[in-house]
Amino acid sequence: MADKGLLIVVSGPSGVGKGTVLAEILKDENIFYSVSATTRNPREGEVDGVNYHFLTKEKFEELIADNGMLEYATYCDNYYGTPRKAVEDKLAEGKDVILEIEVQGAMNVKKSFPEAMMVFILPPSVSELRRRLNKRGTETEEVVNKRVAEAVGEIKKAENYDYVMINGDLDEAVETLKSIIIAEKQTIKRAGKIIGEVLENA
Ligand code: 5GP
Repeated sequence: MADKGLLIVVSGPSGVGKGTVLAEILKDENIFYSVSATTRNPREGEVDGVNYHFLTKEKFEELIADNGMLEYATYCDNYYGTPRKAVEDKLAEGKDVILEIEVQGAMNVKKSFPEAMMVFILPPSVSELRRRLNKRGTETEEVVNKRVAEAVGEIKKAENYDYVMINGDLDEAVETLKSIIIAEKQTIKRAGKIIGEVLENA
């Protein structure tokens, strides 16, 4: 049986560019991206089943009741959650799985999967974050203000993560995240059995 894959939790405030960094990381076909469910409305260009599973509140609550969510949280008045089955299946197949989720949900994942690797992506500054959110142009000013306020609270919780990194320059951020994943896989707690394998025929 394949070794279990690595569960990688990536958080960072809305607008920090998590999606852009992860799009590069996901070119590795051994990494599976967990498509979340949400009750928020699709943004222009977002596709159901690709960016999110867009659900009604009733359907979402049904899934929670059936233990179908590995974690979930409310964020800016909407539910967001990770459907359990796909994640558990992929990990069992030995694939690494990325969850791109907010802080509250991430802390719940850490409780049920203490072996998960937790990464927080920071913006270079809060003013730069606001600039990026405005540039995206998908939200009203009121929503941008709400997301910036949420971001400040989230950044304060970054110290609960295993790794923090800044997304200033995209290429650099991608290299940093790739390096973190490689390094994490060589830690004694994950790779210790290699020593025994090397010594097998000694
Ligand atoms: P957005 O509306 O910008 O797509 O996402 C808002 C926030 O919800 C982001 O911080 C994003 O990482 C988070 N999020 C997306 N999917 C999930 C999920 O499945 N669970 C949790 N807890 N947060 C999620």
